[in-house]
Amino acid sequence: DPRIARISSAIRVIPDFPKKGIMFQDITTLLLDTKAFRDTIDLFVERYRDKDISVVAGVEARGFIFGPPIALALGAKFVPLRKPKKLPGEVISEEYSLEYGTDKIEMHVGAVQPGERALVIDDLIATGGTLCAAIKLLERVGVHVVECACVIELPELKVCIPIISNTNMLSEL
Ligand code: 5GP
Repeated sequence: DPRIARISSAIRVIPDFPKKGIMFQDITTLLLDTKAFRDTIDLFVERYRDKDISVVAGVEARGFIFGPPIALALGAKFVPLRKPKKLPGEVISEEYSLEYGTDKIEMHVGAVQPGERALVIDDLIATGGTLCAAIKLLERVGVHVVECACVIELPELKVCIPIISNTNMLSEL
């Protein structure tokens, strides 16, 4: 798709952020390019338009940027999956491993109903740990995760995790 090249070149890479050795993929420059940002949303919407999605779940923090416009275009609700202790109501949470230690994502109880069909959105997949946790969280409450989709995949960290075999990067759409 010719739109991919423009989207890709609108993403800035910042070396050694937040730590030495990390090549940080900065999507804030994509948001400044109105055509590339619009194309990003359109590509996802085109793929999921006829998939009967009732929930778009966005992973904190950058899933909150791409998720809501996709949800609106699909006529689906948007559910934030947040870092611990951010959501004010009753939550369910899912822990996952990081390189050092663990982290958690949380969702409000009652935000989704059993049998709903969800699309999970984040900006980037590296090890896939975050998306795995998102899938587990949603499946625990009886939601069917149709797919996960990200704008960027870090190829050098590509690993094979069966649970997210249904994850799609923009470049593969
Ligand atoms: P994973 O759990 O797949 O190892 O890491 C994915 C998470 O880390 C995503 O939520 C993503 O926002 C964040 N992340 C890691 N590295 C980068 C990066 O270089 N750029 C951006 N934008 N996000 C990153």
